[in-house]
Amino acid sequence: MCMKMSDKAYYEANKDRKAARDKSYRVDYKDKIAVTRKAYCEANKENIAACRKARYERNHDRIKIWREVHKDRTAKYGKVYRATDRGRELCRMKDQRRRARKANLPDTLTPKQRQDTWMLFNHRCAYCNRTESEIGKEFHQEHFIAQDNDGPYTQDNIIPACQRCNYSKHARDPYTWMKRHKGPLNPALAQWIADTQPRNEASIRQWQADQPR
Ligand SMILES: [Zn+2]
Repeated sequence: MCMKMSDKAYYEANKDRKAARDKSYRVDYKDKIAVTRKAYCEANKENIAACRKARYERNHDRIKIWREVHKDRTAKYGKVYRATDRGRELCRMKDQRRRARKANLPDTLTPKQRQDTWMLFNHRCAYCNRTESEIGKEFHQEHFIAQDNDGPYTQDNIIPACQRCNYSKHARDPYTWMKRHKGPLNPALAQWIADTQPRNEASIRQWQADQPR
């Protein structure tokens, strides 16, 4: 007890000095701290996500009340956030997931998986191989197997496509449509199909088998 009190008294007496020392450490070793933190986050990714989720669930009611009380503030920040690239992407993905769930289809694509796929196609349309700057517009998140044909919103089914290719293919069978496509296709497409489509078909079949009858 005594020890505890003296610790507390020492802390109170030296509070400002300690804060100044901590601050200067953070400034002097900024880069080192960032590297350590990044490595820690990488190594504990799943743990961190689980803790974050648990904390969100624990505080769900309080968060809801806070949002209600600060409605104007959250609306203002939400508007600013949705105008950013990341905000726009997350809104679009949320909308796609909602549509997939409504159609009773798997909806697991994450922003990271979406970025990986775009990188795999060298940031070019998966069909006509044009870039976003060539077409002057952002790519659509194209369902290789159309949602109307039970195509899920998953990494194995979403690829970058320009508006022209997306609208032209629409809900058609991709293999039939590609045969009619004029000009060369994105060189990454054949490998992507070989890698993902057996998995995609298996996961669609699995999902269909899991559905209550
Ligand atoms: Zn295209």
